[in-house]
Amino acid sequence: MNALADILARRIAATGPITLADYMAECLLHPQFGYYATRDPLGAAGDFTTAPEISQMFGEMLGLFLAQVWMDQGRPAPFTLAEPGPGRGTLMADILRATRKVPGFHESARVHLIEVSPPLREVQRARLAGHDATWLDDIAALPDAPLFLVANEFFDALAIRQFRRAATGWHETQVALVDDRLSLALSQPAPIAALDHRLDDAVPGDVVELCPAAAPIIREIATRVVTRGGVALVVDYGGWRSRGDTFQAVRAHRSEDPLANPGAADLTAHVDFEALVRATRDIGVASSPLTPQGVFLERLGITARAQALAGNMRGAQLNDHIAAHRRLTHGDEMGTLFKTLALVPSDAPHPPGFVP
Ligand code: SAH
Repeated sequence: MNALADILARRIAATGPITLADYMAECLLHPQFGYYATRDPLGAAGDFTTAPEISQMFGEMLGLFLAQVWMDQGRPAPFTLAEPGPGRGTLMADILRATRKVPGFHESARVHLIEVSPPLREVQRARLAGHDATWLDDIAALPDAPLFLVANEFFDALAIRQFRRAATGWHETQVALVDDRLSLALSQPAPIAALDHRLDDAVPGDVVELCPAAAPIIREIATRVVTRGGVALVVDYGGWRSRGDTFQAVRAHRSEDPLANPGAADLTAHVDFEALVRATRDIGVASSPLTPQGVFLERLGITARAQALAGNMRGAQLNDHIAAHRRLTHGDEMGTLFKTLALVPSDAPHPPGFVP
């Protein structure tokens, strides 16, 4: 058993089974043995690859998106340019490069990165050398200023609770000890107020998930967007009112049993975009239609950009570039599984890439 498995087993032996959210949060965030505390998980030598690591075109499209919204809203200055979960800093670096020639954008932007991982903060610092940036532990510490924010593969990293519909109420998925091994178990059924709206569409046996950490974060973001202006663009895998067991572990680019190596595998779940929108309902923010990543990137002009870049390429480099374009946009790759959602003030012009 690894050190974190041992800590969790002793805790469960002493106080009983824990929720999946407790398990996931310990595995990802434990200060000594947690996944994000101990490593840089991205890239070919790591556990998973993200869109900005696949091609510079992803960050370029998002940069142009932000610049267009900023111009459409009258070029507010100064403004906060923010990213929660910036990974290796590649997306922010590409956004800054793509917006370099937008008059006034860099002069007005105050870059803020929200990051829990000490090793990734170091990678980000090196990647963004030459730019002023501020690192925050918590989204609530963002300045009270117009907010232009992108979150790519951030919400999927937040801990989820998982439930199975019973005849009355819900069983909760727990991590228990069976023969001294961590094992999944189900609680006795109980009513769960936060799932009352799912009683309409879930039948006994169906699995649904809740991400309690997401609501306060999206509310902090939406409040700034509504009161001060700006936009939040969320990109992630998931859907509208997700259903089914999406809790997964990935290590060295392969999926594995999420209980097998606590703290050593990336744990994620699909993002329920309806839940994000529901959490902001009383704030008065306008939400875009949920749009597949491939459609969104095509509308922003990724194919024209891909062709322009291809003009200077030959051989293996050209093949890789064509594969990267396909990977970001094609329905069999990231194009459909990944979704995009934008939040803007209700009186703001419609953001590019989304059809009203
Ligand atoms: N957006 C990047 C990286 C995605 S990986 C990209 O597209 O490449 C998830 C990122 O979220 C990592 O930077 C991780 O350290 C960070 N993260 C995970 N949980 C977090 C939390 N609770 N608060 C802030 N950052 C978090």
